[in-house]
Amino acid sequence: MTLKVGVIGTGMIGQDHIRRLTQVLSGVQVTGVTDIDLERAASAAPAGADVFDTPQALIRSDKVDAVVICSWGPAHEEQLLDCIQVGKPVFCEKPLVTSTEAALRVMEAEVAFGRRLVQVGFMRRFDADYRRLKAVIDGGTLGLPLMYKSVHRNASVPAGLYTSDMPLNDTLVHDADISRWLLGDEIAGVEVRLPRKSRQGGELRDPHIVLLHMASGVIVDVEISVNIAYGYDIRGEASCERGIAALPNRPATVITDARGIRQAIPEDWRERFIEAYDQEFREWIVAAGQGTATGPSTWDGYAATLVADAALRAVASGQLEEIAMRDKPALYAAPVQQAA
Ligand code: NAP
Repeated sequence: MTLKVGVIGTGMIGQDHIRRLTQVLSGVQVTGVTDIDLERAASAAPAGADVFDTPQALIRSDKVDAVVICSWGPAHEEQLLDCIQVGKPVFCEKPLVTSTEAALRVMEAEVAFGRRLVQVGFMRRFDADYRRLKAVIDGGTLGLPLMYKSVHRNASVPAGLYTSDMPLNDTLVHDADISRWLLGDEIAGVEVRLPRKSRQGGELRDPHIVLLHMASGVIVDVEISVNIAYGYDIRGEASCERGIAALPNRPATVITDARGIRQAIPEDWRERFIEAYDQEFREWIVAAGQGTATGPSTWDGYAATLVADAALRAVASGQLEEIAMRDKPALYAAPVQQAA
């Protein structure tokens, strides 16, 4: 059976996901698209796809079995709730939503529906390097994890559009989610430290050091630098009782020229995580075809939102900000949603 998919939001990542759904993956067809800018939607629409005037029309259409949300964060809640109301599986790019209250509303709707429908776009869980790292940690040969170091560096971010809060409420969500998943643990508190400000980003507050205090006592330190100029550089290293397990340096082209011998660095997330995005959608297509979702859940999106809120509070207070999660509904019973 071919899964008929509608894509909401045809900006940067929307176009990249349309490419993978039409040119890379099988068992799926993009049958509808929409965007606030309908001309942009029309130019991104693959052959045979309808351009819908509104997200609501796309979600309700018989031509759409499942939905991919790639609009900006503040629009996600309404679009998610519409998908849940009609019982259609939905892949939603991170962040799930932009406030804890909104996350709770989405969770309440999905729980009332009675079946998982939502998968959040935390693609790192599908990356082969991260999966191998998790296997080593879970295998236990190094003993218990004690500390985890997460490095998140972007070459640059769009000036003016990317604000000083976004390292914490837009970028950190990836590091928070991967820490929960790798360590099988929830985040109980957050501290933020502000080092010397980089001159690369003008007024932008950058970089950040974030300390995530896990419920088990593990401490995760996250470096977020979003204007580091040299490329997109993602690192991770777990310090355990009897050894260290780390992500490898990504194999890259070796360049030899008058400046010497060096390895090229990925330009951005599209290049670094290209296989992870493909795998994330492979698994989504299988679950959505069965009318459900299996990857990162609404619970995981809620957890990331709590961390973002606590991190922003921590900047203001300079203190450790604690996180209180609500009881986990049975629908999200796995300790922290396991990857397939
Ligand atoms: P983008 O280039 O700005 O694209 C977003 C698109 O959605 C734009 O065309 C925007 O139109 C449109 N849009 C906004 N509100 C809408 C609404 N209510 N209904 C329909 N369309 C709407 O942004 P992007 O970089 O693709 O990011 C989109 C989402 O993906 C964000 O949530 C972002 O955090 C996430 N993302 C995830 C990753 C990842 O690694 N998983 C990477 C990049 C982005 P206008 O431009 O006219 O507002």
